Amino acid sequence: MNVRYPHRINIAIDGPAGAGKSTVARLVASRLQYVYVDTGAMYRAVTCIALERGLAVADEAGLASLADTLDITLLPGEGGQVVLADGDDVTDRIRSREVTASVSRVSANAAVRRRMSELQRRMATAKGVVMDGRDIGTHVLPDAELKVFLTASPRERATRRYLELGDDAGVTLDQLEQEIAQRDRMDSEREIAPLRQAADAVLIDSTGRTVTEIVEEIVSFGLKAAGSIAAGEN
Ligand code: C5P
Repeated sequence: MNVRYPHRINIAIDGPAGAGKSTVARLVASRLQYVYVDTGAMYRAVTCIALERGLAVADEAGLASLADTLDITLLPGEGGQVVLADGDDVTDRIRSREVTASVSRVSANAAVRRRMSELQRRMATAKGVVMDGRDIGTHVLPDAELKVFLTASPRERATRRYLELGDDAGVTLDQLEQEIAQRDRMDSEREIAPLRQAADAVLIDSTGRTVTEIVEEIVSFGLKAAGSIAAGEN
């Protein structure tokens, strides 16, 4: 059932890889009839096109110019968000293991981050956005009315990814756990806008909990945030 808040707000959902951010954020947005923005998909789109054009992930100027000129569009689709890069549907390609292995290097590039953050802020100006990523609460939308830091144990995050990929992916659970840990390390240790829990974010550990429980919890936190704005407390 849809929920209507007394005031339109923005909701930032950050956390490490595989914590369930995109599943949860999409469902929260759908309950509220808000717009869902998967910022990871934007960094993945830049990475995907860079790899396809033969750009090296170390080519800072090349990546900066690509990020500046690439037209990234996010559209709501039946099976999730559709991602277009210069009009080309890259929805499936951005999830490849090659893209996943390089995206943290590309997203450490200052110019790429500047451009993506600018596009993301633009998407959120009218409020009513649920945005997931790594730096939304700390950097992109520091004034978001509700900030959530969603996490889960490394093993559980790897297991979820493993089940998503299926047996044919040619990767073991241990390999996935290592890849996720490495990506988290790069995302947390980069200089610009690293993965970090905002001081005013609510910490939710999804280990052993259902998606429905987490969605309900976030929707009710949002109601409190929107309610206190409507009551003039904020
Ligand atoms: O969310 P997802 O796992 O698809 O994100 C892919 C990568 O994009 C992350 O590992 C991170 O390097 C980068 N990213 C980022 N800032 C965001 C969202 C994603 O640096 N706001």
